[in-house]
Amino acid sequence: MPSLSPRFHVSLALLAGAALLVRSPAVRAQVPAPDGPPVHYDIRFPNADHHEAEVTATFAGLGSSPLEIQMSRSSPGRYALHEFAKNVYGLTASTPDGKRLNADRVTPSRWRVTSHGGTVVVRYTLFGDHADGTYPGIDRTHAHLNMPAVFLYARGLENRPIAVDFHLPAGAGWKVGTQLVPTSDPERFTAPDLQYFMDSPTELSNFDERSWREPSGDTAFTIRLFVHQQDTAAADLDRYETMVKRIVREEKAVYGELAPYDYGTYTFLAGYLPWVYGDGMEHRNSTFLTSTRPLSDSADAVRDLGALAHEFFHSWNMERIRDRAIEPFDFAHVQMSGLLWFGEGFTQYYGQLVMERTGYTSRRDYLDGLARTLDYVLHSPGRRFRGPIGMSDYSPFVDAASWVDRTNASNTFISYYSYGAVLAAGLDLELRTRFHLTLDDYMRAMWRKYGRTGTPYTLAGLRSTLGEVAGDSAFARTFFEHDIEGTAVPDYAALLGKAGLLLRPAHPGRATLGSARLVPAGGGVQVASGTEIGSPLYAAGVDYHDVLLEIDGTKVHNPSDINRLISVHAPGDSVTLSYIARDGRHQARVGLAAERALEIVPFEDAGRPVTKAMRDLRSAWLDSEVATRP
Ligand SMILES: [Zn+2]
Repeated sequence: MPSLSPRFHVSLALLAGAALLVRSPAVRAQVPAPDGPPVHYDIRFPNADHHEAEVTATFAGLGSSPLEIQMSRSSPGRYALHEFAKNVYGLTASTPDGKRLNADRVTPSRWRVTSHGGTVVVRYTLFGDHADGTYPGIDRTHAHLNMPAVFLYARGLENRPIAVDFHLPAGAGWKVGTQLVPTSDPERFTAPDLQYFMDSPTELSNFDERSWREPSGDTAFTIRLFVHQQDTAAADLDRYETMVKRIVREEKAVYGELAPYDYGTYTFLAGYLPWVYGDGMEHRNSTFLTSTRPLSDSADAVRDLGALAHEFFHSWNMERIRDRAIEPFDFAHVQMSGLLWFGEGFTQYYGQLVMERTGYTSRRDYLDGLARTLDYVLHSPGRRFRGPIGMSDYSPFVDAASWVDRTNASNTFISYYSYGAVLAAGLDLELRTRFHLTLDDYMRAMWRKYGRTGTPYTLAGLRSTLGEVAGDSAFARTFFEHDIEGTAVPDYAALLGKAGLLLRPAHPGRATLGSARLVPAGGGVQVASGTEIGSPLYAAGVDYHDVLLEIDGTKVHNPSDINRLISVHAPGDSVTLSYIARDGRHQARVGLAAERALEIVPFEDAGRPVTKAMRDLRSAWLDSEVATRP
């Protein structure tokens, strides 16, 4: 999940009290000079008990043309429409001296104010009670603000600087956690333009803080860890800070340097609370992390860390190495990126790999997870319909999207996180075994070419950079034609074998009817999901809501009855299935399939010889890089 803009950085001197901080050396596209005074926002919480905020937006220097104000419909890093205007009410527009102006609602998310005197003050109430990476959560404990879900904006004023005043409730002990630019007033922050403002999630609460200077090349950046949770013990936070530092350093080793954070600072904004919704959302210089798992439990802390590792990797891949299709972000429409298999999938691969390299995930658990993901991607019928680009294009329908009607996504869609992650694993092993390179070399080349320069990339750029890194454009062309634009996949058994790892069926000889969700109901066992294309259930004509009654004449009442009756058979055996469908009772004779789950086993555990070359490859791939890379 991402964010924004190689198009920012106008002068902040316009903003009274703006602290002029050191900017990153990143090269940025020229932005037109702002054509008027800053936009000003003001937010208060007089009814936090009931999840409301009162927002005031002031747009000045408007001339005589109508003002169009827009509530965002989408948010960077989430690919569905969210229609944030559904939680906006009591909207009024007025002149600075309080004279009411007409604000006509011209679309569900847009208002037009005509006949104003050049300055318009818009006031509205916002409701928010779903704290995560996309939605706001306002209550007595915090105001957790994802900006596109909170602040409407004026069309045509996107390049103007912004100042925002957070009016913290008296006596609540709240502070402001944000990547916005601080000023001498502790409640006032600024942004150089709308893209940066919208990319700056803000946590207002009495969070705990840790920070350190992290070296990068011949400079250093400040990393801040803000954690809002209940009853934090200092020791829990100390331990988590140590874990976060190790993740930061392991990911820095992949690229050789930190991303050059704007204003010199990166901020982890974590809310680990029972009343938030689990999520993680990347931004240029910060990330919003939410989970209901407290840091006091060490296993929970490791799971929280896994989400953090993914989001922090995005500060390079997605925030700065960025697909042209979503840059700059259009808040008024849904955005589509066909390259999420790279932006999300390669990030997924590295987030999990770095958890293993730092030892927070054991090697055994890492390989088990990789085997499960391979099983899902290699065996899902989805690849009959779409490759990684088509899966990425489908994101507006699956990424935090909800529908009334059923879809056939379980048969036609594979998560671009998983698909991209296994492609990354295959490419990494291919580069290591064929070219004495690693996927890090590819990521570093993408970083130098696109990330550091603030140039969005395209599919052609991904392909040509791989050819340059490998010194073999034919290899890159074939990989992209077959595995990216097509639906082929690398030969994982061969690649893993070179690391002395055996990819094999986890349950050889076990028969199955195929995967489907089964529940006791309707006098038998009801199918509570779609059935999978190619499975025996699908071949028998069984579909959603049908009730399985008998197998070979024996009645079934529970999913365990089915497992028991199937377990005496081998793959290829036939059974007779009786079931009730919408049109009545059916009987079908079907051949059982082989259970397809995969496992990855070290050769030494499978009684196979392990060579030094295998051990070396395994350790170069899975050991920490912090000591071995610059
Ligand atoms: Zn992500």
